[in-house]
Amino acid sequence: MQPESPKTIGHFIGNRHAGGASGRFAPVFDPATGARTARVALASAAEVDRAVAAAGEAAATWRSASLARRAALLFRYRELLRAHRDELAGLITAEHGKVRPDALGEVARGLEIVELACAVPEKLKGELSTEVSTGVDVASIRQPLGVVAGITPFNFPAMVPLWMFPVAVACGNAFVLKPSEKDPSAALRLAGLAAEAGFPDGVLNVVNGDRETVDHLLAHPGVAAVSFVGSTPVARAVHAAATRHGKRVQALGGAKNHMLVLPDADLDLAADSATGAAYGSAGERCMAVSVVVAVGEETGDALVARLAERAAAVRVGPGTDPDAEMGPLITREHRDRVASYVHGARAQGADVVVDGTGYTVPGHEDGFFLGVSLLDRVTPEMDAYRDEIFGPVLCVVRAGTYEEAVSLINASPWGNGAAVFTRDGGAARRFQLEVEAGMVGVNVPIPVPVGSHSFGGWKDSLFGDHHVYGTDGIRFCTRGKVITTRWPDPAGTEAGIDLGFPRNR
Ligand code: NAD
Repeated sequence: MQPESPKTIGHFIGNRHAGGASGRFAPVFDPATGARTARVALASAAEVDRAVAAAGEAAATWRSASLARRAALLFRYRELLRAHRDELAGLITAEHGKVRPDALGEVARGLEIVELACAVPEKLKGELSTEVSTGVDVASIRQPLGVVAGITPFNFPAMVPLWMFPVAVACGNAFVLKPSEKDPSAALRLAGLAAEAGFPDGVLNVVNGDRETVDHLLAHPGVAAVSFVGSTPVARAVHAAATRHGKRVQALGGAKNHMLVLPDADLDLAADSATGAAYGSAGERCMAVSVVVAVGEETGDALVARLAERAAAVRVGPGTDPDAEMGPLITREHRDRVASYVHGARAQGADVVVDGTGYTVPGHEDGFFLGVSLLDRVTPEMDAYRDEIFGPVLCVVRAGTYEEAVSLINASPWGNGAAVFTRDGGAARRFQLEVEAGMVGVNVPIPVPVGSHSFGGWKDSLFGDHHVYGTDGIRFCTRGKVITTRWPDPAGTEAGIDLGFPRNR
């Protein structure tokens, strides 16, 4: 029996902390020790209603706040986030488990989106054509939607919320965030700091919860649009439910990112890059490289030797240990599921070059740790290839030619990111045009685009038309209006009835 949880994590509605009235809770763990550190309230329908009502009321006035005021507030928010980045990183490590530098990196990437949102006076500039017809002007403007809801995954408890709400709020919307119930504290702190920066009551609300909470948000008539980031099955279901309820939706799903290594590549650079991208954050990144496709047996052998050497050197430990490079996984169940893919791959005929299962960290025997694993000669029929493992397991697939490798990558149902390592500019150019993925790295393991460019995949990695943040994020959070204006000369002779279809003169 676990002892009573010491702390209850509630909601943040109308700039005030709110307790869990639903009587439903989920446990929150420290993945490095396996200890339950808190319980998080799972919002009831009534609590969701309260959050949406607070947001709706705020949106009605916030949409008229001047661009200068919105920008000033976001600049203040940026400064507060910078000043509290250590605290935020600490919250991330305590509930997610990632190592401190990784947690700080997450906060830094989130800050980039706040910086983008600070540029809202520039980003929301409309278009004007004068004299489209004699004495007639046409302007295109973009206006806020009202209330935007965001549903976010456990693996970036600060960055993914920051992908969404700064842009939505900058565009004049109010926001209701439903963070992951596995690591909710960072999102609540982000909202607390927003209130401190001067976000008016109700402009940013946080409701914690699970599927029941999400279902109510998706059906709520007060919510105009839904941004979702999480696994593919849930993204697909959220997209279907929210569109059925007439909402605008962007639902980013899971990934299985491939890295193609051609025979002329710098193999040390490729091995370093694959190691960082496969095992960073214990492989719990949607931009993780989970498959390396080596073209040619010689390339494969040389690369696997380098990868094995590097895998053996990865230091695994609690996120608070300054020497650790990789922390624990999010839950015991997830850790065991990841390990089962390594066992399954061996049974299905893969070479388990490095086996990280059964790994324990002295003094942290109850933590959700796993060592890193490297699987060679993986084939597309194996479960380890077919499923998103979302753990520190790197699969190597051998291909005979560039064409065979690209067909394999393009046959994947996912299309989040893909990378190519080569010294041949022509081959790299061909790859970037031919590969079916939303984000491409050339001699860079899958890159997370900078704030000024949008983030999003293809195929089962994104349901909807818009990527998040960047120009796409601004378009997602606003709708267009075209205004045609004429100011007739009071002394003129333009009046008169014409039942014909209006023509420009
Ligand atoms: P998840 O799909 O289990 O949960 C995501 C969110 O949805 C959480 O807030 C959760 O409470 C909620 N949720 C879970 N089940 C639900 C259901 N049945 N109905 C409605 N809501 C539900 O994902 P996760 O395990 O938290 O995160 C990991 C996944 O997210 C991975 O698949 C990863 O690839 C993906 N991810 C994708 C991106 C991207 O940009 N494409 C970024 C980060 C993570």
